[in-house]
Amino acid sequence: MRWGLIGASTIADQHMISAIRESGSDIVALISSTQSRAQDMAHRHGIPKHGTDLSALLADPAIAAVYISSTNEKHHAQAMAAIAAGKHVLCEKPLAMTLTEAVEMVQAAEKAGVVFATNHHLRCSGSHRAVRDIVRSGRIGRVLSLRLFHAVHLPPHLQGWRIDNSAAGGGVIPDITVHDADVARFLLGETPVSVVAQMGASGMGQGVEDSAMSVWTTPSGAMVQSHESFTHPFAGSGLEVHGTEGSIFARGVMTQLPVGEIELVTAKGREAVPYSPHNLYLQGVTEFLAAVAGQAAPAATGEDGIASLAVALAVREAARTGQSQRVKVSA
Ligand code: NDP
Repeated sequence: MRWGLIGASTIADQHMISAIRESGSDIVALISSTQSRAQDMAHRHGIPKHGTDLSALLADPAIAAVYISSTNEKHHAQAMAAIAAGKHVLCEKPLAMTLTEAVEMVQAAEKAGVVFATNHHLRCSGSHRAVRDIVRSGRIGRVLSLRLFHAVHLPPHLQGWRIDNSAAGGGVIPDITVHDADVARFLLGETPVSVVAQMGASGMGQGVEDSAMSVWTTPSGAMVQSHESFTHPFAGSGLEVHGTEGSIFARGVMTQLPVGEIELVTAKGREAVPYSPHNLYLQGVTEFLAAVAGQAAPAATGEDGIASLAVALAVREAARTGQSQRVKVSA
């Protein structure tokens, strides 16, 4: 598979370029809105072509798939152009700024017959898959609640558009709550239907929220408690799933790396849960390639991206209005 990269981003630089290559694919071109950034990243990673012209990249018949990791407000237009050019699309979360845009992207891909996937990496991790397997096995009984701890400290090199640019999709809710929404859906196998929330700026956000806490209700009645922040240096991340017959404690697992510990507690006692320590992003790319080959769905589909965005948008609206919000998964 030959790929074109849209966006000279940190995530491409630090994780996705190596993951795409380790999957056996080639990266043939990269574009950025700025020539110098495109050139710098292309040279550092040995990518043969670079530039600022999306049309030129999409006109290259050698490129079968694109990976979009620009800032959030650009995803929609870039994905629509890529789909129109017949490219398969792996798009970063949040898929778009609005649900209408996200739905349009996914529907266009379906109509064009190309694969469209969302880069929700956490559901690709061995730890999250091990937790999901325990939940599915019934070992903890009926799930009563899920707690998601995702308050981190945004490193200085990422304290740009995320903390001060709402037009580019800044704020912790589109950045991290959207991941947590996908984690909840992945672990519980259901989409939250309503949310209550609060958000605030606790030292980093300028015109956008840098912290949020929310409670989500699911169709089964399981409750989800979710905490995201950019300003917590020592909080640590994790999740807990509590059921009628047991609890799962996963510490340090809301991360880009295959790290953290999982413990299962039941009436029989405590046991450590082993999991596969594979690369999360390589797993996502590998499953994307399998989807292109017609073997399976991608790890996170376009519909998964729509649903996680729908939850995140409901959280922001609930926090903005102080009112409980229904989660709308259609535009
Ligand atoms: P970056 O800020 O590193 O890059 C985002 C975009 O900003 C780039 O594509 C580039 O756009 C532009 N940009 C980069 N550096 C500069 C600069 N110095 N000055 C001005 N513009 C610059 O963001 P991330 O890599 O952290 O995020 C990119 C996307 O990926 C977002 O949608 C984010 O939500 C998502 N993401 C997903 C993760 C995951 O694990 N799934 C993890 C991190 C991010 P261009 O080259 O087009 O000008």
